[in-house]
Amino acid sequence: MADKKFYGYAGRWAFVNLSTGEVAIKEADPELYRLLIGGRGIQAYLIYQHLKERGALKDPLSPASRIIVGNSSLNDTAVPTAGRGSCSFISPFTYSPAEKEWLERRTPVFGLLTHSSCGGLFPNMLKRAGFDQIIIDGRAEKPVRLLVVEGKVEIIEAEPELFEEINGHRVLRRASETTDFLSRKHPDSSTVCAGPAGWNQVAFACLTNDYHRNFGRGGAGAVFGSKNLVAITAYGRELPEFYDREKFLEKSKAVDESVKKHVHDPSWTASFRPETGTTWWLDRAFNGGYLGKKGGYLPWHNFDEGYFDPELYRKVSTAAFLEIAGKHKVCNRCRHILCTRSAAVSSGPYAHEGVRPEFETIALWINCCLTDRDGIFYLNHLCNEFGVDTMTFGSVMAGAMELREKGFWPFSDGPEFGNVESMIRALEEIVYQRNDVGRLLARPTDLVIDELIKSGARARPEEIVRCLTTAYAGLGYAGIEPKVFPGMFAAYATSNRGRGDHTYAWTIQAEEGGLSGAENLAAYVAGSQTGKALTDSLGLCDFFTEDFASPDFLEMYSAATGIEYTAESLKECGRRIYTLERYVNNMQGRSRQYDEFVPPKFTEPLTAGPQAGKAVDPAYHREILDAYYRQWRWTNEGLVPAKLLEEYRIEKP
Ligand code: SF4
Repeated sequence: MADKKFYGYAGRWAFVNLSTGEVAIKEADPELYRLLIGGRGIQAYLIYQHLKERGALKDPLSPASRIIVGNSSLNDTAVPTAGRGSCSFISPFTYSPAEKEWLERRTPVFGLLTHSSCGGLFPNMLKRAGFDQIIIDGRAEKPVRLLVVEGKVEIIEAEPELFEEINGHRVLRRASETTDFLSRKHPDSSTVCAGPAGWNQVAFACLTNDYHRNFGRGGAGAVFGSKNLVAITAYGRELPEFYDREKFLEKSKAVDESVKKHVHDPSWTASFRPETGTTWWLDRAFNGGYLGKKGGYLPWHNFDEGYFDPELYRKVSTAAFLEIAGKHKVCNRCRHILCTRSAAVSSGPYAHEGVRPEFETIALWINCCLTDRDGIFYLNHLCNEFGVDTMTFGSVMAGAMELREKGFWPFSDGPEFGNVESMIRALEEIVYQRNDVGRLLARPTDLVIDELIKSGARARPEEIVRCLTTAYAGLGYAGIEPKVFPGMFAAYATSNRGRGDHTYAWTIQAEEGGLSGAENLAAYVAGSQTGKALTDSLGLCDFFTEDFASPDFLEMYSAATGIEYTAESLKECGRRIYTLERYVNNMQGRSRQYDEFVPPKFTEPLTAGPQAGKAVDPAYHREILDAYYRQWRWTNEGLVPAKLLEEYRIEKP
């Protein structure tokens, strides 16, 4: 045991101001690490401080925005999945800046605090380069990139080779080209970069590292674009030092063995991941056969149904994607769970080598009625190259397809249900802002609705809103039909990063196993959100199998960092983080109105398959919300009382 100040962590933060060109390197605050752990928790605090000084950020793409990229205490250690990094910012997509008639006078929401998690190598390489967090403010006058090498951060003018001319506009190259160029320039480094979508400030553009790993949701790429920031490249050789190395090795071995045992235990869903990865859920959602025995919740035709022709499903099933899967291609430090595999299609118009798409991507494109496996595979590759979040893209497409089908679409061309080529075309139009279709669909949904109403579309505003499930600043629903599980609908409604997110709480197995009742569902959602706040703040993956409250995990953590938690005090960190994020979102305009909004389509019952008749019941949803706010000790309007921040020691009394 040495007398160093930080164990596990690198212990350094870099504050970069792109407007002034200044870089300030500061020692991290150990007390904040104890309270908020790292990654997502620390980033929430740093965004909170920024907004506290300036007030609500009314334009997430203005120079006043802040974006943070970083890691945490367990990153780059022997703990399985310890390769996940964090990126936090105010989202330009969950943005509804004015009271709208068509929303029955709901209050404005100016973008929600979004945290995106990403694996690959970059988060661990940033730590090896000596930094826990890179905090970026301002806007550069000319395109720049950041170079982070062995304790130093430089702002460098972006090279002309990183850009290309498309349709008379200078735009950033594809993510793989940027990565290749910067890897040649800085051997053995790792890069996270915007793609052309981010450069053109598409509101759902992501950041990409390792060619296919993304800080996916919320529009981090657009925030980079708005700052004239191309990429961050990191290189270093520093490895984490531990408070008690021998004990850490002993305990991390015990945790590793437990992960391995759980992965091979057929009663755990994780047991299927090394082979099928997340695509395991396709068969579960369509056919059932797991806890609830019923499927019928794989969305179809813009969430109209959760079931469709089984012959069509077979073409995009778990088995169909297994047929094209190759070797594992996993995040740095991933062990045992190994959810990602390479994939290849050898012939036809979509022949390509890449990675197998994830469940959520496939599900949300099935929701666009795509049943062309190879087309889905190719489209996924394009999204990675352009830097586009596949999930929000799927939601935006499904909405546009329905508008078109119903005759509410003001253009002669546009995406069509079941037509992969029309989706590829729309993607390119959005990314390169080629035409009016692309310019419209790159925007947050509430601004799209305003435009459609102004354009004199042949539809009443409520008919337009019915087609767009991302209305009122939603992030876009994930690939589990929202009408089927009331607990999951509450999880979708209350996720701190926006309506429709599935990663902050996941209730499916619990509800299939019989969990019901407003109080029980609310408690389960709040408990899951607490756990996920911990996962993201520790630098681990959603699929990490172990209980953070287990004696082995707690002892391992204190041996790594020197910070002692009990099961209860660690859980309190999760609650503190989630509450702080909610407070930031309150500052940005979020209240019960946001959580309570039920996209009109979800009140219409499913008509096909084993879940026929199911729909969201708004009265029951309100009952769950009442119980949910009590769980968190927020007001019944969904506001965090200031005194709770004092209780959580975020603010002084
Ligand atoms: S389980 Fe999958 S997402 Fe998680 S760390 Fe491993 S490869 Fe990455």
